[in-house]
Amino acid sequence: MEFDDQEASSNVEDRRGMGPVGIGGLGLGGIAILVIGYFLGVDPAQLLGLAEQVSQPSQTAPAPRRGPVADPTGHFVAQVLGSTEGVWTRVFEQSGRTYEKPHLVLYDGATPSSCGMGRAAMGPFYCPQDERVYLDLSFFRDLRTRFHAPGDFPEAYVIAHEVGHHVQNLLGISERMERLRGRVSRTEMNRMSVKLELQADCLAGVWANHARERAHISRQDVEQGLAAAAAIGDDRLQRESRGYVVPDSFTHGSSDERVHWFERGIESGRVADCDTFGARTP
Ligand SMILES: [Zn+2]
Repeated sequence: MEFDDQEASSNVEDRRGMGPVGIGGLGLGGIAILVIGYFLGVDPAQLLGLAEQVSQPSQTAPAPRRGPVADPTGHFVAQVLGSTEGVWTRVFEQSGRTYEKPHLVLYDGATPSSCGMGRAAMGPFYCPQDERVYLDLSFFRDLRTRFHAPGDFPEAYVIAHEVGHHVQNLLGISERMERLRGRVSRTEMNRMSVKLELQADCLAGVWANHARERAHISRQDVEQGLAAAAAIGDDRLQRESRGYVVPDSFTHGSSDERVHWFERGIESGRVADCDTFGARTP
């Protein structure tokens, strides 16, 4: 894929190089806890949640850099976000709705979010409370090395999947699901969150369908994207890390399911065809 005239989004918050606190600033108490943690051999990242609670927000904390990002990867991320903004604005308009653009936070290591402390090890995530996508670029390195999914398109797909969660949030789908929490069994809740994840894959495909021409998305790109979807399916991840598969603890769906729904979104380009909840088979 290649963006030529794609405008970069101005909704990227660059918190890279700002340390794990990102926007608050650590008070002295917080720093003391981190130092103690360091000497006790405790991972400082584990202590940050605690450090945050005892520190007062600093008045002089640097504000995250907003707007154009200069480095090539940051710029690419901003272009992908810009492309999703264009596509979803049009798709929402077609059904008489307004698309509210999410922000994307670039960070390294750890950063606070309204959903708790974001950490690189969690992988990219979307927080509905603050309507932000959180992305640590080390995940892109993992895509290339650990998951053997090189190329620009798998990275774009990952961003489009997170933006898909924002679309679900705007459409009230995430909220409807949250209301079920506690009322249905854990197994049922897990099954529902898999459907939510697969729908985000399908919505990433809807984006790719609409962005295809402008972003020069080739058949080879799509194949790389499908390979990435297969590589980061929960069954693959679990087999790699534990050596066996535990279907009930799937949160993203199996590799086959992810490929199926991503492909369906790419082919159809319609949100209505992403009804993973209504579908009896994946
Ligand atoms: Zn997801």
